[in-house]
Amino acid sequence: MQILVTGGAGFIGSHLVDRLLDEGHRVTVLDDLSTGTVDNIAHHLGSDRFRLVVGSILDRATLEPLVQQADQIYHLAALVGVKRVVDDPLTGILTNVQGTENVLALAYKYWVPVLIASSSEVYGKSVDLPFREDGEIVLGPTTVPRWSYAHSKALDEHLALAYARKGLPVVIVRYFNAYGPRTDPRGYGSVVARFIAQALRGDPITVYDDGQQTRCFTYVADTVWGTILAAQTPKAQGQVFNIGRDQETSILELARLVRRMTGSTSEIVHIPYRDAYGPNFEESRRRVPDTRRAREVLGFQAGTSLEDGLKATIAWFQERG
Ligand code: UDP
Repeated sequence: MQILVTGGAGFIGSHLVDRLLDEGHRVTVLDDLSTGTVDNIAHHLGSDRFRLVVGSILDRATLEPLVQQADQIYHLAALVGVKRVVDDPLTGILTNVQGTENVLALAYKYWVPVLIASSSEVYGKSVDLPFREDGEIVLGPTTVPRWSYAHSKALDEHLALAYARKGLPVVIVRYFNAYGPRTDPRGYGSVVARFIAQALRGDPITVYDDGQQTRCFTYVADTVWGTILAAQTPKAQGQVFNIGRDQETSILELARLVRRMTGSTSEIVHIPYRDAYGPNFEESRRRVPDTRRAREVLGFQAGTSLEDGLKATIAWFQERG
């Protein structure tokens, strides 16, 4: 198949590209290199089954011929990372809403099946754990910029489902804290990358608040596998899937684990949210996926333990120097 991956030079996108090329597909990446890097996909440059187009999903003239040529689209391009969203909510909203509308409108025009990458962030502050795909979404006020990301991703999902009602084959995945090699300390999956980088440098490991907030860290190879299954399973169309591992880990536990596994002597320090993100900040306290739908419909389970995933990630950081 000819596959278009938007955001294919990013962290998750580049791992997805690796796997799609391994499966024998032809892959075109559209990426504006805002958070993605050529380094992530450099090993494919020169392959006759791979093409990199540097450009934006906001530029319909660039996007249109790529969609027209595609048999399948994986739409991962987005402005990601809590810090980035908080620092520049406008770019985040425009990229995530207008960009996704462009992708969906063109996919509809040329009738190309599309997978939309969404986020566990859409569950917001819900305490109805574990999060079921059809469970409640609880977002804070619009005056707190953090929630603009969840709103934009939720609107993307509404858009995608509206196109699905018109018959377009669409599937949506909500990622739960993917991490692994190529994680960018400044971008998505920041906490694992930040802690490893801090531990290896011997700098303080910066746990925000009391560190009792939790996440379900999911190794990127599992994230990618769930993504491909969602796109390739016909009965998944028109549905939303949590793609994550359901082992809950507190941020303080993560800090201790990273320190132990890197053999670091870094001290663990606690930093108030306002010092990290500014005064107007709210947090998702716990985040756990209900994995039943992904298991039953896709046959997907995230099998990589946190220890194994961290080992591979730490090794990558060490090799990179
Ligand atoms: N976090 C932290 N120290 C850091 C970066 C993040 O304690 O240096 C915390 C953050 O407050 C959140 C969790 O780690 O509770 C995950 O943050 P991240 O930005 O990786 O992703 P999120 O799940 O919030 O989108």
